[in-house]
Amino acid sequence: MRDFSTDHRWLSINTATVRRQRGADWPLLDILDACAARGIRAVSPWRDQVAAAGLDATAHALKSHGIELSGYCRGGMFTYTDAASRQAVRDDNRRALDEACTLQAPCLVLVVGGLPGALAGQPAHRDIASAREQVAEGIAALLDDARERRMPLAIEPLHPMYAADRACVNTLRQALDLCERLDPPMAGPPCLGVAIDAYHVWWDPELDSQIARAGAQRRVLALHVCDWLVPTIDLLTDRGMMGDGIIDLPRLRGQVEAAGFAGYAEVEIFSTRWWAHDGGEVLDTCIARHRSVV
Ligand code: ZN
Repeated sequence: MRDFSTDHRWLSINTATVRRQRGADWPLLDILDACAARGIRAVSPWRDQVAAAGLDATAHALKSHGIELSGYCRGGMFTYTDAASRQAVRDDNRRALDEACTLQAPCLVLVVGGLPGALAGQPAHRDIASAREQVAEGIAALLDDARERRMPLAIEPLHPMYAADRACVNTLRQALDLCERLDPPMAGPPCLGVAIDAYHVWWDPELDSQIARAGAQRRVLALHVCDWLVPTIDLLTDRGMMGDGIIDLPRLRGQVEAAGFAGYAEVEIFSTRWWAHDGGEVLDTCIARHRSVV
């Protein structure tokens, strides 16, 4: 296992971690400046942040700072209610792929979607099995576009508490089953893999064996870290800073690295507590915790 204690060369910042500090959006280009000033070598930006900064301006800033991406957030949300919304989803995911290519991301992260309409508070039905089939269909279609562009897709299984509204793929086993079905193991590197986020998978009794399974197929494309607070007071915006909760992060990282992953540990914290701090202070805390508890 790599030693993170003396430097932070394998730290990446998911830019949602510092997206709106003290009530104001922190512009992506300013975040990149602040990361560069601290020797942070990688980020994972969100599409809305890139759109606000401008795609070309973002690509230029990344290049001039020498910052690379650990992933691009995000594609997915595949579930639909009619032919028009299915087409809109496919078009939007293609745009996400093109942006990921422009930014030279190592993968496009997929949050696959839940029951159609649920995220907006109006679920169209109660049939989660059909939602899961739509997800498989959506990934299969996007995979053709991804192969053309040589841009790997990383399915991120989300904690089951998000099954209704954000992602009906909820375990690493489920994600890997999809990978094997849609992108069967072949000689070359797979185009479909997984993003392993500590927050979503830490509780899974099958975690060890599924990480090993992912590694054997070279499907681990990203590692996201934060912590699970006890108690957690909001389902979406109360993620913990590494070391403040109950996830055994070194154990998880050890397993993921034993499975062959040698990329960045990407800090992804959606937290009203941390959004209330100065952004630079949050980045400094991420660096310190990355060295001490990841
Ligand atoms: Zn994540």
